[in-house]
Parts: sequence; C-alpha cells; structure tokens
Amino acid sequence: MKLALISDIHSNFEALSAVLDEIQRRAIDEIICLGDIIGYGPDPVQCLEVVRDRNIVCLLGNHDVAAFDPGQRATFTRLARAAIEWTAPILQQPHIAFLRSLPYAVKRHGCTFVHAAPLDPEAFEYILNDFSASRHFGGFTTPICFIGHTHQPDIFCEDMTTRTVQRGMRFIVNAGSIGQPRDGDPRACFGVFDADAFTFEHVRVPYDISTTAQKIMAAGLPRQLAERLSVGR
Ligand code: ZN
Repeated sequence: MKLALISDIHSNFEALSAVLDEIQRRAIDEIICLGDIIGYGPDPVQCLEVVRDRNIVCLLGNHDVAAFDPGQRATFTRLARAAIEWTAPILQQPHIAFLRSLPYAVKRHGCTFVHAAPLDPEAFEYILNDFSASRHFGGFTTPICFIGHTHQPDIFCEDMTTRTVQRGMRFIVNAGSIGQPRDGDPRACFGVFDADAFTFEHVRVPYDISTTAQKIMAAGLPRQLAERLSVGR
C-alpha cells in the first residue's frame, strides 16, 4: 500500500496538476490531502473540485475553516486575511458544504492524519522543530502521524535520533506544501509513504510558477503572494 500525502494546495492549480501527474506516474494506491485546499492562490474552485470529485480523503485546514468561519481569520496574517476575503465570496454553497464536511483528524491504514498538530487538531498549532513536536507524540497512538500546515517538509522522530522513517520508531511527518512551499525550494512538495516497507520520501515537482503568479496579479490579490512562489518562502 503506497500513500501519496498532499497538503497546503492553497488554490494553486498549476502546482496541483503537476503533482497529480507525478502521482499518476507512480504506483500510488491512495491520495490523502492534509488540508488547506484554498487560500493564497487564484484557483480555489478548481482545486476544491479536483479534490472533491476525485474522492480524495481530505482533512480540514485552517484556511478551509476560515472560508465559512470568519472568526478563524482573526489568527491570520495580513496576506492570509486578504486572500481568504477574496476567496470566500467566490465559493458557492456546495463548495462551502464540502469544506464543512471535512474532518479535523482521520485514522487510516494504521496512520493518523491531521492538518497541523495531533494533540488538539482544532487549535492548528505549528510544529516547527523537535521541541515543538515532542509533546504531540502524546496526541496519537499510531506509529506515524502525517501533518502539513507549516509548508516545511520535515520528519520528527519521537526519540529525536533520526530523520529517516523506519519501523519500530514513532514519527510526525510534515508532507510539505503543494501550492506555496516555504523551505527555499519553490518546487511543489508532496510525500509518498510505503506502508508495507514503512518508508517515506519527499518528492519535489517543478510546475509553471509564472502562470500561477500572473493569475494572482490578475485577480488583484497581494503582489507578495505572487512573488514568494518563485523563491519558495
Ligand atoms: Zn497552509
């Protein structure tokens, strides 16, 4: 059983399409989306409909919540708020109904899946290092928990001895971001987990960044949201 973990698509249709093409080329059995389908980018409806219509198992991200719960926007940066205020009016009732139907946490194939952090998935905490990861190992019982949210691909081991997923140890694995990577590599990022071999790999996929950036400008979204895509920050 091979799982593809995709996260933080953020309305970037070019990046999502490139990643789905790459997934198609691999022997992937199931795709799981870790949330934040929308926000930041210019194609919220297209991205949402691809995930929905392919019946991809999907978690609820904080930007997804913000589409139907304005209270969530209070925690947002200026750029994130500008983007969700542009996005929310474009979504129609079936899109909102789909987002509202998404779960905060899922357990499947012996793994746990949340958008941000397992201890209290609705709080959307940021797990950025071994220290912030450590207490979250108490928030799930499976050997591995997959997360997104920070847009930084990473692997945290419970005993902090390795960054390679291996059997017999427990891990929190950040799949990285499809639509707005922030680790300095502008290519789309996703994860592949082989549940039989118990191995994990981050995969990087180039995509047509200039088209996405042009769409962001044409939509009247903040210029910084276009510029950051080409630097991956
Ligand atoms: Zn995000």
